[in-house]
Amino acid sequence: MQKGKIGVTSENIFPIIKKFLYSDHEIFLREIVSNAVDATQKMAAVVSSGEYKNEWEDRTVRIALDKKKKTITISDHGIGMTAEEIDQYINQIAFSSAGDFLDKYKDNIEAIIGHFGLGFYSAFMVSEKVEILTKSYKEGSTAVRWSCDGSPEFTMEDAEKEQFGTDIILHIDKDNKEFLDESKINGLLNKYCKFLPVPIAFGKEQEWKDNKMVDTGKDKIINNTKPAWTKKPVDLKDEDYKDFYKELYPVHEDPLFHIHLNVDYPFNLTGILYFPKIKNNIEIQKNKIQLYSNQVFVTDSVEGIVPEFLTLLHGVIDSPDIPLNVSRSYLQSDSNVKKISSHISKKVADRLTEIFKEERKDFESKWDSLKLFIEYGMLSDEKFYDRAKKFALFKNVDAKYFTLEEYEKLIKENQTDKNKSLVYLYATDKEAQYSYIEAAKEKGYDVLLMDGQLDVHWVNQLEQKFESSRFVRVDSDVISKLIPKEDENTVNLSTEERNELVQVFNAVTPTSSHYLIEFEDLGENGKPMVITQSEFMRRMKDMGSMSGMNFYGDLPDSYNLVVNPSHPLVKTVLEDEKSILGETLKSIRDEKQPLNDEKAILEKEKSGKKDEEVSQEVKDKIEDLTKKINALSDKENETLKAYGKESKLAKQLVDLALLANNMLKGEDLNRFVARSIELIK
Ligand code: ADP
Repeated sequence: MQKGKIGVTSENIFPIIKKFLYSDHEIFLREIVSNAVDATQKMAAVVSSGEYKNEWEDRTVRIALDKKKKTITISDHGIGMTAEEIDQYINQIAFSSAGDFLDKYKDNIEAIIGHFGLGFYSAFMVSEKVEILTKSYKEGSTAVRWSCDGSPEFTMEDAEKEQFGTDIILHIDKDNKEFLDESKINGLLNKYCKFLPVPIAFGKEQEWKDNKMVDTGKDKIINNTKPAWTKKPVDLKDEDYKDFYKELYPVHEDPLFHIHLNVDYPFNLTGILYFPKIKNNIEIQKNKIQLYSNQVFVTDSVEGIVPEFLTLLHGVIDSPDIPLNVSRSYLQSDSNVKKISSHISKKVADRLTEIFKEERKDFESKWDSLKLFIEYGMLSDEKFYDRAKKFALFKNVDAKYFTLEEYEKLIKENQTDKNKSLVYLYATDKEAQYSYIEAAKEKGYDVLLMDGQLDVHWVNQLEQKFESSRFVRVDSDVISKLIPKEDENTVNLSTEERNELVQVFNAVTPTSSHYLIEFEDLGENGKPMVITQSEFMRRMKDMGSMSGMNFYGDLPDSYNLVVNPSHPLVKTVLEDEKSILGETLKSIRDEKQPLNDEKAILEKEKSGKKDEEVSQEVKDKIEDLTKKINALSDKENETLKAYGKESKLAKQLVDLALLANNMLKGEDLNRFVARSIELIK
């Protein structure tokens, strides 16, 4: 029997392995099983080179659990090892200046393990003793039993073993008893080994016999050795991609599209990405993509490896070129990883371009689900924006789809305003903004539907990208102001009449928000009154509430109440007011007129002079006149307001405008209904 000490450095390594890998104990199984797979594949290479001439049929890697002995055994029929090979690959951990390295990375055991092929040693995370029983395939080899209890000392002796290949026997320690459980092992195999390229057996297939389930002689294979991504796209049908998706995510609905990645230069990468079908308002799940290295599962947190927006996709990426066992921050700064990331982004854009060109109808029908990903991509990745602008779609309120370019052509002629700015009209809610959409359509304008989660941001982005264009929500002003043209109607009201209507309507607007009364000639057949909210105000409030930056979010809502003086009902309000208040107003104005005249003369005298050149007497006089005039104006306004409060018609018109915007609620709505009944009676 040979005794010895494992390399110089292991004295440091064992405690580190035990201590730092605590959270990731379970990877031991992946490491040992993938070694067995490697050995099997090496044997396959030996066989196909003709070096080994006998039969070699059984390639299955078997995992066996012995609860009594507290062992897990991983057996393969691969190339095996001679005593010299054990010495070389297991006993000598082949790296120089290991001490330095360990010092530097002792907080990052993953880096150590990945860099120096310490996969096998991860067995000590869960074992008090590890044995290797192995026999090389080489003719005349003797089997060897190696054993080590976690201290740097090992023993090695000749042994009996019939077949070549290796058994790794893990004597699980008492802190890790959980791994002596069948369902635990099944879970780990399912997570890490599901797509390994060599059959992995755990237990036997069972059958129903004599009223109970019993083991058959057949191995129960837990993996699919040829997952779809390892095949050529030409050999796969649509169904195969869907089936593979089901294999990955058994409970998900069918995906929208798949993208088969197949790169061999400047790095190796294969995989299949899926655009999942998402239902509105459901929390979007990140980290559904699984990362593999030669079919060995590595991680399902791919941030930093794939472009941010693609973390929303599903599927598999397999690359031996991504440094897998290193830390996340290292990954993110790795230039190879960056290349991979931008390459994937390009591939995804190419594939979408292709689908768009070849199957536009299908693409359109999926756009509503797809657009979240694409908008996210356009917002977060400039290069993707440039590619995606060719296939990104606008959907209008009639559910027609246009590319950005097509849409520009569509609206160019009709929706360019007098300042040569192209106006994109959009609605965020077809129902709530119905009357505004109809008003726009009547003018021959087109209205986009922007009701997606990212549309607000996308609109901002497009506004910056498009030249002399702007986006306005269809209810942010009356239509003639949204797209102002040369031939604007002028409002036919005197200054006094304007003020009269402002006071009357002000008396009946709700006090909960701020209303600015404006006039706009919408024609006799237009609405008597329309409520709008300025694009600027609304965006600021939206942004405020979204970003938690609450300055604008906290402002009271502010609306415009646009009055149409050409409408017969508005005319009635004005006439009625005049007939009732005419005398009163006239006497106030008659009183005010001479004061105004006098003040005007004094102001004229004052103008052009410096302050000190104006006599105190004149200044006092002006001040006195101003006070009197203001008092009279107040009186005039109060009179109008008092009238307004009593005017059922004025109140009814304002309420109707509120109702059209779904802004009439509760008590006000109740009163409106009662008043309406009253008016009809
Ligand atoms: P890595 O697999 O990264 O090289 P390991 O520490 O896991 O590092 O294994 C070290 C070496 O031991 C392997 O490269 C291989 O030569 C040998 N080895 C491990 N397990 C087996 C096995 N089941 N059959 C044959 N050789 C093995």
